[in-house]
Amino acid sequence: MMAPGLLRLRALATAPRQLRRHVRKDSALACHHLALSASASAEFDETCEESFEEEKESSCSSADSHYMALALEQARLGMERGEVPIGAVLVDDATGEVLASAHNETETASDPTAHAEMLCLRRAAAAAGRSGAWRAVGTASLFVTAEPCPMCAGAIMQSRIPRVVYGCRNDRLGADGSYVSLFPPWRGGDGGVDESRAPPHPFHPNVDIERGVSHDECQELLKLFFRRRRVENARAKEQQRQEEDDV
Ligand SMILES: [Zn+2]
Repeated sequence: MMAPGLLRLRALATAPRQLRRHVRKDSALACHHLALSASASAEFDETCEESFEEEKESSCSSADSHYMALALEQARLGMERGEVPIGAVLVDDATGEVLASAHNETETASDPTAHAEMLCLRRAAAAAGRSGAWRAVGTASLFVTAEPCPMCAGAIMQSRIPRVVYGCRNDRLGADGSYVSLFPPWRGGDGGVDESRAPPHPFHPNVDIERGVSHDECQELLKLFFRRRRVENARAKEQQRQEEDDV
């Protein structure tokens, strides 16, 4: 059972969420229209970036920040083990209890599907412990430090997760518009769906996406990891070159 303080934080998260869903999407809608034209790609990037920045400013609540901090702890733990630093926690919406937490384990488990989100969903479903109990994760929110990839977005929809909160964008693999758009279409300021987009996933059309929570911390951790990795790769190449010269 969760401490009363954290339950209060959780309550703080739900009230502004309803409001946020309807006030932030004007510029997002515009960016999807722009995406229909390849010649407008530069303008699309710029408008999406502006939209993401606006959301980053407005979407953060105390509870979201608290759970994102737990996801960041996981990401740092993963980095210490040589993994791309992405962390996730799955939180019961009713009680605020953390049902599962994970960081990427693709290297340590030698498993390309061992992303933090996938591991959270598997662990929570397994912990439920009885046939069909995986549906229990459909009442939980998933906090993840970076925009989910297409594989994880598919798993999130199959799990009926009602709410996803993520930190920074994933420019190369993001499935919330950075590379592809697999979540339900963003809505305009009046709440209307952009009809030019593909229809939402029929099993799970209403997943609520919160973007940009603890954005800078999440992004800086990834940048630090890849910066270090570039330096290490350059050193390894230089060492190999020297060894070849010595032969
Ligand atoms: Zn993934």
